[in-house]
Amino acid sequence: MPEYSAGELLALDRAHVWHPYGPMPGRTDPLVVRSASGVRLRLAEETEGRTELIDGMSSWWSAVHGYNHPVLNEAATAQLGRMSHVMFGGLTHEPAVRLAARLVEITPEPLRHVFLCDSGSVSVEVAVKMCLQYWRSLGRPAKRRMLTWRGGYHGDTWQPMSVCDPEGGMHGLWQGVLPEQIFAPAPPAAFEESYAEGLRELIGRHADELAAVIVEPVVQGAGGMRFHSPEYLRVLREACDEHDVLLVLDEIATGFGRTGELFAAEHAGVAPDVMCLGKALTGGYLTMAATLCTPRVADGISRGEVPVLAHGPTFMGNPLAAAVACASVDLLLERDWRQEVKRLETGLREGLAPAGDLPGVREVRVLGGIGVVQLDHRADMAAATRAAVREGVWLRPFRDLVYVMPPYVTGEEDLATVCHGVIAAAAAG
Ligand code: PLP
Repeated sequence: MPEYSAGELLALDRAHVWHPYGPMPGRTDPLVVRSASGVRLRLAEETEGRTELIDGMSSWWSAVHGYNHPVLNEAATAQLGRMSHVMFGGLTHEPAVRLAARLVEITPEPLRHVFLCDSGSVSVEVAVKMCLQYWRSLGRPAKRRMLTWRGGYHGDTWQPMSVCDPEGGMHGLWQGVLPEQIFAPAPPAAFEESYAEGLRELIGRHADELAAVIVEPVVQGAGGMRFHSPEYLRVLREACDEHDVLLVLDEIATGFGRTGELFAAEHAGVAPDVMCLGKALTGGYLTMAATLCTPRVADGISRGEVPVLAHGPTFMGNPLAAAVACASVDLLLERDWRQEVKRLETGLREGLAPAGDLPGVREVRVLGGIGVVQLDHRADMAAATRAAVREGVWLRPFRDLVYVMPPYVTGEEDLATVCHGVIAAAAAG
């Protein structure tokens, strides 16, 4: 295929392409990326004096091993030579089976069954469907609402949007149209018994209509990059058990080591009934996500009038993505990922500390491989992004947040550059 110049690409982009959370085509000004390797994105043309940017975002939490990794390339190429896709209804194949078994092995007991789908949002759709279908199958259809935290984010398709924080979040437009769920206040950073008591009370009060509680464990991501005490997960687990409500943990952003434990639930030693995974599952290579559940949930569904999980879009269990996911999980576990994330945490803590002295900065917080600078005002996104690019760093600030989650393989010098980029963005935004 002939290569377009950067100018031609941008012209076509402006004419036709709708970007995520973008205004009408033609009103955005994206940077053109030609290629990526390691932690670097290569731009088609010099921008703010840079032709290469260190990716501080891991492509939205996913590219934990960096780009163009020989092991993942090899896994993809080998699988391409066998089959890139085959329908998953009535057929099975080694990459999907291997991946499912591997995920069961590394996630908390008693998660044992795996539905492989194609995006985080769909894995949340499937999780909600599993929970509602479970109660229907047991003859309790009134249990069909979800309880979640304000400040949460679970994706952009219909059910996931209904469990995102409608206020201040991205889906306020759809209030009144989406299924009505029950919201608890966002969890405080530190453990507060009075807040925990409120959670218990809310779950108890709505138990008859609650199918499940769904939350992001330890870190609420796109809803505000807030961290909270893992103790709340124990409170949720106990209250769900006491009141016969399922617990869904959405580990799409936090899974595969990002918070310092392989899964954030492990900070609390809690196992959910249903767990959602995505993003770093394939090391950011291909679009795949997974919903895991316990035998209790699967057995319940299979006792129903419709004893199947009625979900099966075309690209479920895609072998190419599954093969890369297997390689990505192996790659992660073979390395000392815990040490890598610890190193990121130390580097981010040291490197971002000076941001605390900037005017307009409310708080600097770091957990595992996540660094957040919260401003006391809405960031000027364009100015903040440009300032980071000038430092040679790719960031994507939103609302009052300048934040990073670099690939685990980011070296010390590059990490220091990433921190300079964040500070420059926070100062400019
Ligand atoms: N859940 C959480 C916690 C997320 O952070 C995201 C994406 O940012 C999603 C769900 C949705 O995943 P996807 O963007 O792959 O649909």
